[in-house]
Amino acid sequence: MYDNENVCARGSCSFHVELVMVDGTALPAVYCGDACADFAWLKRGVESLEPSREKAEALQNINALERLLNGRTDPFAVGPLLGGLYG
Ligand SMILES: [Zn+2]
Repeated sequence: MYDNENVCARGSCSFHVELVMVDGTALPAVYCGDACADFAWLKRGVESLEPSREKAEALQNINALERLLNGRTDPFAVGPLLGGLYG
């Protein structure tokens, strides 16, 4: 699915991911930073909603957010989107 596992898993993001230590082994993280991880979580949530006006508005917000993330020149130019609201 991704031709380079060291690139952020958010489809339109091409930043490389950091290595994270898991049980003493350095493994590539899935996303380049909190903003992409939060974005993916938000997008999954919105896409799982039943079709409605609220969903359409939420999708517009998601698209605007995606453009913001795509415009970054640094993966940490945008911080966590959810401020620790989950996990
Ligand atoms: Zn990313």
